[in-house]
Amino acid sequence: MPLHLYDTYRREIRAFAPLEEGAVRMYACGPTVYDYAHIGNLRTYLFEDVLRRALEFCGYEVRHVINITDVGHLVSDADEGEDKMERGARREGESAAKIAGRYTRAFKADFSALNMLAPHVWCRATEHIAEQIADIAEIEKRGYAYRTSDGIYFDTSRQENYGYLARLNRAGIAPGARVALGEKRNATDFALWKFSPPGEKRQMEWESPWGTGFPGWHIECSAMAVKYLGKKFDIHCGGKDHIPVHHANEIAQSEARHGTTLANFWMHGYFLETAAAKMSKSDGAFLRLESLTDRGYAPADFRYLCLSAHYRSDLKFTWESLDAAAAALGRLRGFAEKWQGEAAPDAASEAAFSAAIFADLNTPQALAAVWDMSKRDLPDAVKKASLLRFDSVLGLGLGESAAEIPKKALELAARREKARADGDWEKADRIRGEILRKWGCEIEDTPDGAKLRVIRR
Ligand code: AMP
Ligand code: ZN
Repeated sequence: MPLHLYDTYRREIRAFAPLEEGAVRMYACGPTVYDYAHIGNLRTYLFEDVLRRALEFCGYEVRHVINITDVGHLVSDADEGEDKMERGARREGESAAKIAGRYTRAFKADFSALNMLAPHVWCRATEHIAEQIADIAEIEKRGYAYRTSDGIYFDTSRQENYGYLARLNRAGIAPGARVALGEKRNATDFALWKFSPPGEKRQMEWESPWGTGFPGWHIECSAMAVKYLGKKFDIHCGGKDHIPVHHANEIAQSEARHGTTLANFWMHGYFLETAAAKMSKSDGAFLRLESLTDRGYAPADFRYLCLSAHYRSDLKFTWESLDAAAAALGRLRGFAEKWQGEAAPDAASEAAFSAAIFADLNTPQALAAVWDMSKRDLPDAVKKASLLRFDSVLGLGLGESAAEIPKKALELAARREKARADGDWEKADRIRGEILRKWGCEIEDTPDGAKLRVIRR
């Protein structure tokens, strides 16, 4: 059975085949870098990483693009309120560009600590303003845009099937109590370009044919996705919260601009929730990867926890479930160290594992296949080969022996040496802490220089 994936657009699981033979093009909506990523955001990127690995497991060459939203994402998805970036900058008394840099670096560090495969392209909204302006101009030329006193808006009433992705019932969305219409013609209309408020200079603003301002949030993704992947590519993904607004609007723009739905499959990861409520970056208190590593968990423990639930079901985060994941992963690591030798993977076990992954990335069932394999009466070398083969999809890092020091940790240790040589003790200490948190390695300063030693994994 070939790989089958759930397509939110068609609301069905169907066989996946790339639009162009052999190569798969996928786009994932990236972080809004006004703060650290929370573990809910990271769950979505983990689902996308497993998707990418599953595609590579099938033998496809994957081109993977992730954007960095560093302008235009307003506090409310309905194009109102402050720009999240400007709010973050004010909170920290720094420029928007500075906090974008800081949280982009932090995001990429989490990304690699979780053993996610780096995308082929990371693209930033602020570096693609010209592309966005060109798209808006074309959308306007085709009669889908209108002007209000605060921006250029997309007229959703021009499209019969607007909101099909979310099965929006447009007739049911009356302006009024819930949606303030303002000068918008329809409740679902959204901003393509927003003007800087009169008499005010925003930190981030650009000239445009319509006036000084900044792009709406949705246009960045359509513009960059098309630039790097073409007008119609294979898979577009994000968290499920993107279905009703962000992705519905990306599709609307693309249909107006290019006559395509942008992607062949639209895929969405469900939420990670904490006991209290939905986790959200904007309410200030949230768990990040560092909150877990500070308590002594390894990033891979969280990865295992996410694999233990199907990506299309919400997952409640509890410390007990993270403990259970860490214990299970510890046992797999024990196997990986004990089983030695070289052989081919066991075909029957691999068939069970693939069947699970190919059934819309059923990772809990795939983990069950791993445990079944571990109990089979097979030579250790065969078990080891099977485990490593499965781990190419699971990404738990089972091939790295605990004693092996990751290259990234060594690079950071060298940076710490330099900081020490420069007398920057604060930075040196910070790097020591980071190396311990991320890789469980302690630094010993010996007469021959710094040495790294793994104290936990
Ligand atoms: P943001 O940085 O807010 O733009 O979100 C980054 C990604 O995380 C998007 O794909 C969101 O859909 C996703 N996301 C947001 N909250 C959660 C959550 N609690 N669980 C899983 N994914 C989430
Ligand atoms: Zn997006």
